[in-house]
Amino acid sequence: MAEPDVLFLFLLSVSFTLTGRSSATTRVVSSPSICVIGGGIGGSSLAYFLKSYSSDQNISSIRIFEKSGVVGGRMATVEVAGDKFEAGASVIHPKNMHAIRFAQLLNLKKKTRKDDASSIGIWNGQKFIFKTVSLPPNSRFGKIISFLNSLLVLKRYRWSLFRMHRFVERTVHCFLKYYQQLEARPVFETVEEMLQWAGLHSLTQRTLQEELAEAGLSQRLISELVTVITRINYGQDVSISALAGTVSLAGSDSGLWSVEGGNWMLAAGLINHSNASLNLGEEILSVARIGRMYELKSTRGSSYSCEVVVAATPLDELNISFSPPISVPQRKLMHTYTTFVRGLLNHGYFGLNSHKEIPDLVGTIEDLNLPFSSIGVQKTYSIDDKVYKVFSRSAIPEELLDQMFSRRQETIRLNWAAYPHFMAPEVFAPFMLDGLHLYYVNAFENAASTIETSAVAAENVARLILKRLSSGTPTDVHYIGMSVSEYGHKFDL
Ligand SMILES: Cc1cc2nc3c(=O)[nH]c(=O)nc-3n(C[C@H](O)[C@H](O)[C@H](O)COP(=O)(O)OP(=O)(O)OC[C@H]3O[C@@H](n4cnc5c(N)ncnc54)[C@H](O)[C@@H]3O)c2cc1C
Repeated sequence: MAEPDVLFLFLLSVSFTLTGRSSATTRVVSSPSICVIGGGIGGSSLAYFLKSYSSDQNISSIRIFEKSGVVGGRMATVEVAGDKFEAGASVIHPKNMHAIRFAQLLNLKKKTRKDDASSIGIWNGQKFIFKTVSLPPNSRFGKIISFLNSLLVLKRYRWSLFRMHRFVERTVHCFLKYYQQLEARPVFETVEEMLQWAGLHSLTQRTLQEELAEAGLSQRLISELVTVITRINYGQDVSISALAGTVSLAGSDSGLWSVEGGNWMLAAGLINHSNASLNLGEEILSVARIGRMYELKSTRGSSYSCEVVVAATPLDELNISFSPPISVPQRKLMHTYTTFVRGLLNHGYFGLNSHKEIPDLVGTIEDLNLPFSSIGVQKTYSIDDKVYKVFSRSAIPEELLDQMFSRRQETIRLNWAAYPHFMAPEVFAPFMLDGLHLYYVNAFENAASTIETSAVAAENVARLILKRLSSGTPTDVHYIGMSVSEYGHKFDL
């Protein structure tokens, strides 16, 4: 993942308590059992589930390697105007049960987004084709304006809105199967099997456009509001595969929340809770199978031996060398450019008479000539002093920012290797990369990319590891004859 310097520098200064210890002076560490590459939500929740589903005798240690100076990965904050804003994953759905339980377990405070009277506009490059009513700051009429805006949306999209809602609800209902009791839920060896079991696989094989048209949504709703949402959440239009698209639509439901202080605290807390060792600022360069162990080499010149290795990061743009080589389908990542600006948008750029007429959220239809996907107000300090978050598919040139904003006090740019470029029919990498004990959590990411889907995938991979260890899946081809007891306990997964 390409991380911009500015974010990296800021995050380095964030202090939090973790049980991590540096291994700069350690050349070889004796047999840590499970090595995890990546300290995002995938790696941290994997450590948590491994610890929760096993006893201490089963796993001697878990060591997480994180190349950046902080944990959290794509859950990261930036500081603008002295305030912290989510720069990556910003909202969590009210039915994301793992994230909810993590927040409870870790005593993290949830910040629920108010379903307020924020205005929305859909910009086509020349004009707003749809706009709701803006509310003056500190107005007492928020609820009325909010109701009025709902009526305006309903008037434009009519019954299609309800059909969209029903479609999203049906998909969320299928997803909830992943929270069933362990006994009711198989351990899945492939992503395809996992999706088929929940009734979600077919949605990865068709586009969102196809599915929504079949569900009876009007073309107007699909090409306007739905497109605005998929462009904001995944930087893509409705040709996105339908499962990722529907997850993105669920991201506009009410009741969305985030962790006060930053969603990255979920990862920090889970690593702490699972007693995993954390090697911060240490990038893994190679993973080699040597006898019954894997040997990991890092940028610090250190090497580590582990019986099990888990990649909890997209491998697509990484240069980790695997020996013997592994094979994963080629996947294109979507780069999303996030630009934070403190200042004021220029009403002239939008052909308006006053900046008060500019909606709080400017969404866009699909047009390759449009230089941005969305612009949203993050915080209002005064009527002409705000912090905005701009999403775009490529970097917005300085001159263009000067046209878009009448005043710019602070600008922070980030370039995320954000999520897969979703494309139906999706093909999935394997959870088990070598048939032994090399695993890949982010194989699931081609279904959808969220905090919760990472946790759901990590839970399954944790169960898969424990099941295979307990059932005597050899850690080495020469150990095929070993008895189950030599691999520790039997797990009831
Ligand atoms: C702009 C943006 C907005 C988003 N919005 C939302 C949202 O609102 N809600 C939501 O739920 N999701 C959202 N997402 C998606 C969500 O952030 C991701 O799906 C999720 O955080 C992925 O977690 P992960 O642990 O699988 O991967 P990552 O978070 O990418 O973690 C992987 C970690 O591995 C580390 N790493 C990589 N290579 C190595 C190596 N060789 N050695 C050591 N460490 C390594 C990386 O530094 C990184 O910390 C958004 C993503 C982006 C980019």
